[in-house]
Amino acid sequence: MARLEFDIVVIGGGAGGLVVAAGGAALGAKVAVVEKHKLGGDCLWYGCVPSKTLIKSARIAHEMRHADRWNLSPIDPKPDLAQVMERVAAVIRGIEPNDSPERFRGLGVDVIQGEGKFTGPVTFEVNGRKLTARTFVIATGSRPGVPPIPGIDKTPYLTNETVFDLREPVRSLIVVGGGPIGSEMAQAFRRLGSEVTVVDMASRMLPKDDPDLVEVVHSRMVEEGVRFHFDASIVRVAGNTGSVAMTIKGKDGRESTLEATHLLIAAGRKANIENLGLDAANVKTEKKGIVVDDRLRTTNPSIYVIGDAAGGYQFTHVAEHHAGIVLRHAIFRFRWSKPSKVVPWCTYTDPELARVGLSETEAQEQKIAHRVYRFPFDDIDRARAEGETEGFAKIVTTPSGKLLGAAIVGLHAGELLAEYGLAVAEGMNAKKLPGVIHAYPTLAQVNRRVADQRLKEGLTPTVKKWIQRIFRLQGAP
Ligand SMILES: Cc1cc2nc3c(=O)[nH]c(=O)nc-3n(C[C@H](O)[C@H](O)[C@H](O)COP(=O)(O)OP(=O)(O)OC[C@H]3O[C@@H](n4cnc5c(N)ncnc54)[C@H](O)[C@@H]3O)c2cc1C
Repeated sequence: MARLEFDIVVIGGGAGGLVVAAGGAALGAKVAVVEKHKLGGDCLWYGCVPSKTLIKSARIAHEMRHADRWNLSPIDPKPDLAQVMERVAAVIRGIEPNDSPERFRGLGVDVIQGEGKFTGPVTFEVNGRKLTARTFVIATGSRPGVPPIPGIDKTPYLTNETVFDLREPVRSLIVVGGGPIGSEMAQAFRRLGSEVTVVDMASRMLPKDDPDLVEVVHSRMVEEGVRFHFDASIVRVAGNTGSVAMTIKGKDGRESTLEATHLLIAAGRKANIENLGLDAANVKTEKKGIVVDDRLRTTNPSIYVIGDAAGGYQFTHVAEHHAGIVLRHAIFRFRWSKPSKVVPWCTYTDPELARVGLSETEAQEQKIAHRVYRFPFDDIDRARAEGETEGFAKIVTTPSGKLLGAAIVGLHAGELLAEYGLAVAEGMNAKKLPGVIHAYPTLAQVNRRVADQRLKEGLTPTVKKWIQRIFRLQGAP
C-alpha cells in the first residue's frame, strides 16, 4: 500500500476537531484539518460564547432594573442591542486567536480551507488535493433544524447563526422552541427590552429535565414577562422584515395569531453529514445519522465521528471529550477506550439549571430502585446574602446511597454541579460528601446539605436508640 500522507485528517475545525488537531500535533502526529468556514465552529461564532456573553449583559440590565432587591436605587439601563452585540463580537474577537489558522499552523497542523469529500476508504479530496490518512475524524458539527412550517420559506427568520449579527432594536420576538437555546435567548431578549413569546409543540419547556426543576425557571421567566404557548402546533407564518405573523393551534384546536417584529427558530439541530462522500468511504448512515459504535467508530474502521456530527449529546464538552477518546485510539491504539456515559449539562437561564447522570424521571421510567433527596437554596446562608434563594439541589441515589444523578436549579448551578460530576462519575456514595469540608459561606454548601439528607435518613429510631444506649453505658465523664 502507498504511504499515507497524514496520521490524522480532521474534517471540521470546531470544538471537537480542534482538540483532535492540537492534541494530535502535540503528540507528534502529522495532522491536517479541513475547515469549510471559520476555525472555531459553532461554539465560538454562533453558540456558547456569543450566547453566554449576551446573557451576561441581559442579567446586568435585569439587576439594574431590580436593584431595589439589594436596597439600591433601581435604574432603567435602556439597553441598546447594537452596543450589547458589539460586546458579543468583542468577546469572540478576544477568544478567536486561540482557534486561529495561524496558531494551528504554528502547532504544526496543516490547515486547509475548503469543503471536500471522501473519494475512497482512506482518501479525502479537497481543492483538488488528495489527502490520505491512517485515521479520519468527521467533526463537522450541526446546524439549526428549521421545521417545515407553511410560509417559512417566504418569511424572514433568525437562527443562532444570524441572531448575534442583529444591530437594530428587537421590539418583539417570537421564539420557536423552548429547549435550552430557545429558553436562554427568550430570557436574554426579554431582559434587554423585547416582548418575547415562546412557542413549543411540547407541553413544557426544557423537556429533558425534571418538571420540578424546570418549573423554577419557567415561573421566573413568566414573572419577567416571557409568554409561553405550549402544546402548540404552528399552522402558518407570514411576514416581511420587521413584521411577522404566526398562526398557532392550541391543544383545544383553537387558532390564534401572534405578531412580532422578529422570529427566532431554535427548534433542534441537524448533524452536518451530507455531501461528505460517505458512500465512497464505506461509512454507513441510517435515519438517525452516521452509524457509529460505542467507541465513536463508523463502519469504516479508519473513520471516526465526534461531537454534534455523531448525533448524541450536542455540547462542546462532549465534543472535546470525544476528541480525547479518538486521540487515544488513533495515537496510543487504546481501542477499548469509550466515551463516558456521565454527561453533565447546564441551561444558562437565570436561575441556571444543571444536571448530571440519571434524573428522577429517568429512574421512574426505567423502573430503577432509587431514592431522591432535595435541599433548598433558601436554607443556604450565602444564597440569602446574595438575595438569590430560588431553587434547590436534588440527588438521586440507589437505596444503599450510591449516587446515580444530581441536578441543581439556582444561582451558579452549572459551577456547583462539577462536584457531583466527579461524584457520579466515580460512583461515590452520597454519605461521603458531608465528610468533605465545604468552605463557608459558599453556595456549594448546598451540595453537602443535600447529601446530608441521605445521611440523616440513616438515623432510624433503632439507630438513635443504640446511640442513646451507648451514651448511658459511657456514663458521666
Ligand atoms: C446558541 C447555542 C448555544 C450553545 N451553548 C452551549 C453551551 O453553553 N455549552 C455547550 O456545551 N454547548 C453549547 N452549544 C453547543 C455547542 O456549540 C456544540 O455542541 C459544539 O460546538 C459542537 O462541537 P463540534 O466540534 O461537534 O462542532 P462545531 O464546533 O460546530 O464545529 C464544526 C465545524 O465543522 C465545519 N464544517 C461543517 N461541515 C464541513 C465540511 N463539509 N467540511 C469542512 N468543514 C465543515 C463547520 O464550519 C465548523 O467549523 C450551543 C449551541 C448553540 C447553537
